[in-house]
Amino acid sequence: MTPVTVFAGRKVALFGLGGSGLATARALIAGGAEVAAWDDKTESRDKAAGEGIGIVDLATADWADFASFILSPGVPLTHPQPHWTVGKAQGAGVEIIGDIELFFRERATIAPDAPVICITGTNGKSTTTALISHVLHQAGRDVQMGGNIGTAVLALEPPAARRVHVIECSTFQIDLTPSLAPSVGIQMNLTPDHLDRHGTLEAYAAIKERMVEAADIAIVGVDDEASKQMARRRAASGRPLVKISGEQPLDEGVFAGVTANAGKLDTRIVEVRDGKPRVVANLAGIGSLRGSHNAQNAAAAFAACVAVGLSAEEVAAGFKTYPGLAHRMEEIGRVGRVVFINDSKATNADSTEKALTSFRDIFWILGGKAKEGGIESLRRYFPNIARAYLIGAATDAFAATFDDDGRVDYLRSGTLDDAVAAAASDAATHPGEAELAVLLSPACASYDQYPNFEVRGDAFRALVKALPGFKAG
Ligand code: ADP
Repeated sequence: MTPVTVFAGRKVALFGLGGSGLATARALIAGGAEVAAWDDKTESRDKAAGEGIGIVDLATADWADFASFILSPGVPLTHPQPHWTVGKAQGAGVEIIGDIELFFRERATIAPDAPVICITGTNGKSTTTALISHVLHQAGRDVQMGGNIGTAVLALEPPAARRVHVIECSTFQIDLTPSLAPSVGIQMNLTPDHLDRHGTLEAYAAIKERMVEAADIAIVGVDDEASKQMARRRAASGRPLVKISGEQPLDEGVFAGVTANAGKLDTRIVEVRDGKPRVVANLAGIGSLRGSHNAQNAAAAFAACVAVGLSAEEVAAGFKTYPGLAHRMEEIGRVGRVVFINDSKATNADSTEKALTSFRDIFWILGGKAKEGGIESLRRYFPNIARAYLIGAATDAFAATFDDDGRVDYLRSGTLDDAVAAAASDAATHPGEAELAVLLSPACASYDQYPNFEVRGDAFRALVKALPGFKAG
């Protein structure tokens, strides 16, 4: 835990007693603050009260008493409309901040030079965060990973000169962190997402750009227009910038280059310094880093690890043992020449597109609760599909797309159990020698059949592991 001492002896209000809220309350109390916490859910309040956290009804509390108000990042600060506590805080002139702000304030007092790498962007945050942490850990560094990716930032060990914190930041978290000051700040990419919570694309982009502006060294993806503009403005400021790309050569920075090698496509990471390109890592054969989206993630991770002192060789070696994250093109294992991939996190067509470009001869399991547009945007990848297996509520809609297209042989499986059994059996008897993929990449939310994408992915993994002849890894 990182005790927060900056509010010692003062009263702090806190709303939202989920995982990060509880960790924040504990850290504030450990640092000597008096916490007045509240949550709309009785169970959450009871749980917090059970461990001695002060529960105060913030609807009737005297806000003039509070030195600060800590809001959970899941609770709306602005859109679609401010939570009622936001109005109370503003009315009383109390600042509204989040747990990462507390982390940065504490760091400023106990270890201002402690290295902190923060990662944001619309996509690839978790992968890049986990990859950087893995590489640093493999190189023998003391690493603490958290933020949006799992462990609440204040539940991590405190910042220290020889310890690297790697923190995934959602836009909501950045919005609540006025003192954001990472040693290395990464902005991966920007596409419309979560606009319900930010209003306009401009507002969403402006919050992300704060990461670029606040960092000692900024690492910025230049594969989309909005991020490219951020890089341009950073370059104009004259402060350290590393541009990264997953798809195009750069005259300076780190990019991924794809080359044909004995009939296979190799992705190499190329660093260009002072105009001189140098191949620094090869992603060929690293199953956990397949696809051009992961090439962007690897380019960002490379730049970040080098920025905190690793050699190119250490980073390349770390990439080779990256285990990947569960549910994101996770390679579960094989039966003969068939590889089984769990991409349950792909809850929309955009995410599924990444998987469909990463394999050929795909036995594709898809369906669930469909998103707007369905799988229309994926038609150009249909030639990669050996057979499709439809599950859940989207079955009729997706079947209609396949019928209309005419190129995909599909089965109405209904459930994941039936789909896995049929796909495994079809793949096993498919003619040829090449690698085949049984891929769960649903392009749908899971709610019609599962509580969330994790439970869906876990169910898939269990079914695959029970197949005769299954071999892990
Ligand atoms: P996030 O934490 O930003 O949601 P993840 O690393 O968990 O991102 O990846 C989620 C999904 O987003 C992946 O399954 C993949 O489909 C897609 N993705 C990952 N990295 C990128 C990237 N760099 N660019 C575009 N899409 C990506």
